[in-house]
Amino acid sequence: MSEEHRNSHSTRIVSASRIITGKPDEVIPDGSVVISDGNIEWVGATASIPVKYEAIVSDSFPLSTILPGLIETHAHLGARSGSQAAVPNPALHVQGWNALHSVKILRQLASVGITSVQSLGSKYYTDVAVSQAVEQGLIEGPRVVPAGPMITTTGGHDWHDGAEVDSINDIRHAVREHHKAGASVIKVAATGGFMTPGTAQWNAQFSTDELRVFVSEAHRLGKLLAVHAHGTEGIRRSVDAGVDYIAHATFISEDGTTRFDAALADRIAESGIYVDVASPPSFPPVANETIAPRAFDLFSHGVRIVTGHDIGAVIPAYGYLYGLEQLELAGIPRSEILIAATSRASAAIGLAGVAGVIESGYSADLLVVDGNPLDDLKALYHKQLILIRGKTFIPEEIPIYEGRQPSVGGPESVLGQRQAALIRKQLQQW
Ligand SMILES: [Zn+2]
Repeated sequence: MSEEHRNSHSTRIVSASRIITGKPDEVIPDGSVVISDGNIEWVGATASIPVKYEAIVSDSFPLSTILPGLIETHAHLGARSGSQAAVPNPALHVQGWNALHSVKILRQLASVGITSVQSLGSKYYTDVAVSQAVEQGLIEGPRVVPAGPMITTTGGHDWHDGAEVDSINDIRHAVREHHKAGASVIKVAATGGFMTPGTAQWNAQFSTDELRVFVSEAHRLGKLLAVHAHGTEGIRRSVDAGVDYIAHATFISEDGTTRFDAALADRIAESGIYVDVASPPSFPPVANETIAPRAFDLFSHGVRIVTGHDIGAVIPAYGYLYGLEQLELAGIPRSEILIAATSRASAAIGLAGVAGVIESGYSADLLVVDGNPLDDLKALYHKQLILIRGKTFIPEEIPIYEGRQPSVGGPESVLGQRQAALIRKQLQQW
């Protein structure tokens, strides 16, 4: 059967040696998935396919695994750094360039096997436009959950995105404006960051009361509230305010070192807040510093970890699988990593019941890989088939991401005291 005939409206069966459904500990040996109109219609053992489907010849992948399409919970479509260097005339072309660059990121993500992505900060609402373009079939790619520009304080982290607020009224207005512009999730910079000069990672940018207004306004509009938070104080205020998602959670204290706060991690876990852990805690890179210590500590305390790599800002789209391997090096079991990258990730970005699980009624976002990723995550590199909403995505050739040298249980210090002192000095002179 040619690809022409396998459009999203025909019924199609995909079979393999096993199905990892995305539900905890559920593996169906010798399983099949029946797909119709872009959705999953039936899942089960190949031997018990209902009679009505028997005439349909299935695409069979012996020695392979079917799993839910992977999910990236923290990307930046509409990337800033580097991408604009080649724009001929920035005043004229920057927005168009931004959109095209986002499409490139999106296609690379799809080529890795990612079928849904949350964009947590995008200038010009580029991610909203790209999300709509995917929905309307203008471009092929993963489903996009867009945040639009990250909301911050005047001069705060990521202020270049153009969403600065300083009062309760500003906050309400900004959330409503994002809603009006088509954002599906609200992203707030609760602390300073690594990539905006004039901010410090440990500085909390909003009071708890201000964060509460963000949360209540976002929830009123049916959206989840995600924060960027490196500093321990900003993490604490975010938890107090009832946010839904924390990006980074690196526990950086005033002296620039990371000191994991076990009691605060317990509170994050009890609150059910999702935390992305698949990008290194610092940027620019610090020697020997890895994802490992923080990710494992959070996992050990029962925090709902998810796979957000800060793609487009810190790790390139094709570095996604590298991030998963780093989580394994950190000591997190493969079964847990696959949950974090599928069903839990979908819940974290507001797609529970839609994507991230292989079950009837869900979107037919599937990945077929040679081997069994529960035995070896490297199996995820050996893709046989990528289906996005039931449609075959033909992957592009993408580079292998080498990353940095892994060093499990790296040093406590993220920034080091000297770097912290330097940032403090820069802040005073600003
Ligand atoms: Zn980010």
